[in-house]
Amino acid sequence: MKKILFVEDDHAIALALTYSLEEEGYEVVHTSGVEEALEALRSSFDLVLLDLGLGERSGYEICRALSGSDIPIMILSAMDDEANIVMGLDLGAVDYVTKPFRLQELLSRIRGILRRREKKEEGPIYRLGKIQLDAAKARVSVDHREVFLSALEYRLLLLLMQHPGQVLSREQIIERLWDVDGQFINDNTLSVYIKRIREKVEDVDGSLIRTVRGLGYCAGE
Ligand code: CA
Repeated sequence: MKKILFVEDDHAIALALTYSLEEEGYEVVHTSGVEEALEALRSSFDLVLLDLGLGERSGYEICRALSGSDIPIMILSAMDDEANIVMGLDLGAVDYVTKPFRLQELLSRIRGILRRREKKEEGPIYRLGKIQLDAAKARVSVDHREVFLSALEYRLLLLLMQHPGQVLSREQIIERLWDVDGQFINDNTLSVYIKRIREKVEDVDGSLIRTVRGLGYCAGE
């Protein structure tokens, strides 16, 4: 199910449009402020539908926070002057719809954005906190900055990120990496690899790639 973050402080619009989006089969998370939205964005979304005037704050803050990420933003705003539209698009929004909007047209535009995004994504993208791993491109980034891992480090990180929240025993990990890579890893070298990965992805304290004492490792909670 596609997941949409809908940031809107007008409760009537929020209620009505959330209902329509859910009718269309989307999972909708609605927030009415900037802080709440940024908090929600710790988990992944397929689209952000964004109002601009959010009380004292501006939806542009969310555009800025998402710059460099691959989540498409559609702005939905009563501000219909060219300056705002240009600013919104310059800040990375893929579409800008002005209020009052036509519901069917809005839904059609959303379908279009999601379709285009699906085509672009050739492989799964895994996220763990600030770490993003694009399996199609074998690319790892931290806070949108690319980091370079050795082939084995990459495979180890991929393995952990493919099983979020699941404790993988040292034996399981060694077995899996042995299989795919044919390189020799033992218990000690595994610890060394984990340490190197943590340094590279800026997780030196092991809060993302956790050590589960006596068992193994776990990506995330
Ligand atoms: Ca508003």
